[in-house]
Amino acid sequence: MKIFDTLTREKKEVSKKKLKMFVCGPTVYDNSHLGHARTYIAYDIIAKYLRYRGYDLSFLMNITDVDDKIINRAAETKKDPKEIAVQFEKAFMEDMKALGIGGIDKFARASDHMPEIIDQIQRLVKKKFAYETKTGVYFDITKFAEYGKLSRQNTEELKKHRIEPDATKKNPHDFSLWKKRDKSELGWDSPWGFGRPGWHIEDTAISEKYLGSQYDIHGGAIDLIFPHHEAEIAQMESVSGKKPMVNLWTHTGFLLVNGEKMSKSLGNFITIKEALKKHPAEVLRLFFAMSHYRSPIDFDENNIKQAKNTLDTIYNALVVLENIEKGPGEDVESEVNRIKAAFIEHLDDDFNTPYALSSVYELVDLVNKYASTGKKISRDSKELIEATLLEMCGIFGALRNYAPVKVTEEIRKLVSEREAARTRKDYKKADAIRSRLEKMGIIIEDTKAGIIWKKKS
Ligand SMILES: [Zn+2]
Repeated sequence: MKIFDTLTREKKEVSKKKLKMFVCGPTVYDNSHLGHARTYIAYDIIAKYLRYRGYDLSFLMNITDVDDKIINRAAETKKDPKEIAVQFEKAFMEDMKALGIGGIDKFARASDHMPEIIDQIQRLVKKKFAYETKTGVYFDITKFAEYGKLSRQNTEELKKHRIEPDATKKNPHDFSLWKKRDKSELGWDSPWGFGRPGWHIEDTAISEKYLGSQYDIHGGAIDLIFPHHEAEIAQMESVSGKKPMVNLWTHTGFLLVNGEKMSKSLGNFITIKEALKKHPAEVLRLFFAMSHYRSPIDFDENNIKQAKNTLDTIYNALVVLENIEKGPGEDVESEVNRIKAAFIEHLDDDFNTPYALSSVYELVDLVNKYASTGKKISRDSKELIEATLLEMCGIFGALRNYAPVKVTEEIRKLVSEREAARTRKDYKKADAIRSRLEKMGIIIEDTKAGIIWKKKS
């Protein structure tokens, strides 16, 4: 398997079977939005696939529950910062569950790791990578010659960014490790007095504790490369003296909404909760999987519709398959195995989900081909196709509501009666038949791909 590494800008072969992965989690000061959904769904698919391929994966995610954004939000709403953090961490967990994101072995809150954070800062100060001033403790970027290596910026380019102006710093780009604060604010005691940690140090203190000073995969959204991930490298590689901190730096691409960057001021800001009111999680997941995780994605209604139609087509293929005549018939094993091998080949190549989906469509086409020619299919082949489709779609988190529906003569009759009623615009009768079918545990949906039968869950 090959995975693209942002640091070296090339795909690297993954040779180890035991993998440790850290993905930057949310700062819990507001409801999570579609940009978060994109990143966390991508890593959910990555984790599912790595495990499917037999990798022994430990997946760690931090929760930033100590941050200026939380403190500002608390001040705006006249609430306690802790209350804000608890409220939005809960909301985040609800969103993850609703999106079907699981498989994260451990969530680690910054506030639960103050001793580790303080200890890491102390070691940086002792090794003279960091220094204390009146206002806090800062990382001295002149001590880490490779600062800028991930974002590929030289010293001059780095100077263009504006980072926390503070007159006590040695260099304008030194970032804070500890912020000295008044006792009235949220904070902890430390060797440098009362205060709170900077954002970057929270992540490396947590990842060092659970994954060690060197691990396999670090993930996050592309906009975290600078300064956040650059700072993580500087901290971790300085404190441990070991390089590289991680073998693979991975990043998810930008999310656009109707061709524009999502922002509150543009009025195109969509939270996960709002998106889930309009679209089932399965559709959202398939929509994201239709683009490569590193590519930009444009969230617009047409693209979402395409994902919905694709999902309907796949569900429909399963219904069609269930109702193809079985018997001594053709064996499709080698064809199915060829499609599955291609599916794996695509995902082994830096998780190419859009290509992998084309293998799913191939399997769907195979089903539809049998149905349209009226050929019989062997029972074993039918079971193999069904299991393979569910297995492949399971990696994307799709087909979660599938249950095979056996279309009996009675059902078939009811469905055609309903069709006839709809044609003569007798919607009352059509709806009555629909609810009768529902009572029998069957939901019918009219889609572009045809009528889909689903078992009521
Ligand atoms: Zn982070």
